[in-house]
Formats: sequence, C-alpha cells, structure tokens
Amino acid sequence: MSLKLVLPLHFLFFFFFFFFLSSACASTSTDQSWIRTMEEFSGYPTHAPGPPSLPVDAEGLQKQIDELSAFSDTPAPSVTRVLYSDKDVAARRYIKNLMEKSGLSVREDAVGNIFGRWNGNDVGLAAVATGSHIDAIPYSGKYDGVVGVLGAIEAINVLKRSGFQPNRSLEVIMFTSEEPTRFGISCLGSRLMAGSEGLANALKETVDAQNISFFDAARAAGYHIDQEDFRNVFLKDTYSSFLELHIEQGPILEEEGVSIGIVTAIAAPASIKVEFEGNGGHAGAVLMPARNDAGLAAAELALAVEKHVLESGSTDTVGTVGILELHPGAINSIPSKSHVEIDTRDIDETRRNIVVEKIHQSAISIAKNRRVRLSEFKIINQDPPALSAEPIIKAMEHAARQLNLSHKLMISRAYHDSLFMARISPMGMIFIPCYKGYSHKPEEFASAEDIANGVKVLALTLAKLSQS
Ligand SMILES: [Zn+2]
Repeated sequence: MSLKLVLPLHFLFFFFFFFFLSSACASTSTDQSWIRTMEEFSGYPTHAPGPPSLPVDAEGLQKQIDELSAFSDTPAPSVTRVLYSDKDVAARRYIKNLMEKSGLSVREDAVGNIFGRWNGNDVGLAAVATGSHIDAIPYSGKYDGVVGVLGAIEAINVLKRSGFQPNRSLEVIMFTSEEPTRFGISCLGSRLMAGSEGLANALKETVDAQNISFFDAARAAGYHIDQEDFRNVFLKDTYSSFLELHIEQGPILEEEGVSIGIVTAIAAPASIKVEFEGNGGHAGAVLMPARNDAGLAAAELALAVEKHVLESGSTDTVGTVGILELHPGAINSIPSKSHVEIDTRDIDETRRNIVVEKIHQSAISIAKNRRVRLSEFKIINQDPPALSAEPIIKAMEHAARQLNLSHKLMISRAYHDSLFMARISPMGMIFIPCYKGYSHKPEEFASAEDIANGVKVLALTLAKLSQS
C-alpha cells in the first residue's frame, strides 16, 4: 500500500481503471463492458440497478445528425452545405448551441473555426483536441465530418456523465470549410490553423465562382475579417494531441466486419495541371504525318501517369487523371489544345514526388515527340503526408481493446483536417465502417451502433490522453 502514496493520483486512477477493465472485458458483452469501464474509472455508477443503459446516447446522437442534415440547400436525403451560406450559418449556430448545452466554453476565430473547451484541472497544460467538419459538397450525405463533430460533443457528454474530470483541458473543434466547394481550397480552416502563410496571403485575393471575395462572403456570414486577422488563426503549441473521428469513406471495415479503424498515416495528394497545344486542323484534310495532335499528347500522358504510379511498386501509390478536356471538342476537328488534371497520392512523400517528377519528364518528352507545345505544367499543391503519433495509436488501440471492439490499423487514403493538424500537434484518427464505403453522395450511411462505438473509443482515448 505504501506504493500508492508515492504514485501520482492520475497514474493510480488509470492503473485501477485498466486493471478493472481487463477483467470486465473478459466476461461481459460489449455494452456491459463499456458501462463497467465508465464506472470503474470514474468511481460513479452510470446506471441505476436494473437493465443497463448505454452511456452513449446513440439515439440522441442520431437525432442530432438528422437535424443537422436539414440545414441543406438540396432536398433530403442529399445534403448540400457550402461555406458561409445561410444554411452553413444556421448549422454553425446549431453546433454552438450543442457545445454550450454540454457546458463547453465556445469561441470562434476570424474564419469561423469553432472551439468548445472543457477546462481541465491544469489549464496551463496544452489541451487535447478533437473535431472535424460539417460542410458538405453538393448532393452529398449527412455523415462525412458530422460524425466527428457531433460525436466529439457526445464523447464529452459521456465523460461528463460518468463523472470524469480531465487533467488537461479537452477541446472540440468544428473546422471551417474542409471541402473545397466554394473557394477551391480544401481544409481551409485547419490549413490556416497550422500556420499556412501561403494561404493567409492567397485568401486576400480569393473569390468564388460568382466573383464574391472571401472577405465579403465571410462578412455576410457574420465574420468581420481584417487582412491581419488571418495570422491570428495560426496556432502553435496549443494542443498536446489531436484526434478525429470519421467514417472510413472506403469499404474495408464493413467488408471485413471490423468495428474500428485506427489510422496510422494519411496519404496526401499532389495535384498537377497540364496543357498541350498543337495546330489542330480538319479531321479529314490533315494527313497523319502532318499532325501535331494535342489530344493524343494528353492521352499518352494519362497512360504515362498510370505507368509511373505502377513503377513505384507500392499499392499505396495511386494516380488519377480526373479531368481531360479537348479543344475545340468537335468530332471533325483535330484537338488543338488539351487540358489534363492529375492527382497522385502516397503515404511516402519521397516516393510520391518521384512520380510527380517522372510525370513531368514524360510531359516534356511527349510534347517533343508529338511536336506539340507543353504550354503549362503546374503543380497546384504538393502537401506532405502525415503519420499518426505512436502514443496516440497505442491509446486508441488500448481503448478499442478495453471496449472489446474489433479493430485494425489502416491508412487513410482520403485526407482530412487531421493532415494539417498533424503539423502543429501529435495526431490520430479513428475510422468507423460506412455502408459500402459510400461517401460524398446521398447514400452515405453509418449505423447508430458503429457511430456509438466510435464515440466510445474517442471518449476513452481522450480520457487517457488528458491524464498524460
Ligand atoms: Zn470529411
């Protein structure tokens, strides 16, 4: 017993917490093990005698997901919520209300990243943060991002209900504009939080398709930004850890019947714009030896992209030609201009950049051989991939084990706000299964049970990280 006296209180707390948990998990169902979990570590009973109740309010959470989906510019079941639109502003108000109801102190930065903080015992320590986004591309679904915002608030509720008191403060973040819909910039809020000078400068000139400036759009939504304010959004040393709960947006977890995906790395794209120009001409009159066909140059480059990606030898390297446009686009006209957009991704930055360089070399030699002009080869962005922090991976795995939930380590091939948060904080992501891997369309779906499982893993991981 003398050992007890010299150990820090939180260490003891977790020692007993996990000790009791191990025995609980061995003999009870998932739900019951969770209830024991919360009881053991908090010392508070979470349910009255009788049938056990779920500490995660899965039904209430589903109701919130449904309510939030109603803030949409297109009819249900689709969701369209574009940055700073009226529906976006209403949805933001909904989130702030929920945060306040959960007893969080709410603040917003200059571009509308929303923060809800639960002060820990030691407010001087860097906080543990979690969050995601609620903007939705046109005609998409209601779970992408939303699960990581509403689920984060519910994770806080679960911890509060159980009587838990964090040592480090816990913070829920709703990021502004993860989707690039309006201004063509993805992860606008988190990119800026991570200190992107390039973005802070670019936003001063940025306009949407209707030629409305970022400043005017923000002002219409109630955010009065001065030019200097963009730098006030930058954060540094604010968080000791950042976690994001998200639907997988891929089919692996569902196909394999696994409840929780623990993300070890996030692949990052490089995006490239290419233009070839030739002489064009009549499809009948110009004989083959005399042609310099910009369309065929584009076609050859598309095949070269595939070849260079496959040459990397890793299944983690992918490349896509998602846009290929020909000018003038008539059946009887040799293309005089072609426009190609290429997306290539990897979890290994060097390997991806080698692919980008090979694509560039191919573009140059194709232009030479086909006697067309390579009028543009522009790398639009080339973000570095991110690795999850080892201690956070361990904490997530531990939580899933304690909860008796099947889990697997995996890579996120889509990117998220976490990619940018990883630049300013150790990062981790929790994936839950979604129906057939569907995302960015109305059929997107995650079951209430899978969402509740994700919230439980999130809550336990937050609890653990807040004590470390
Ligand atoms: Zn998302």
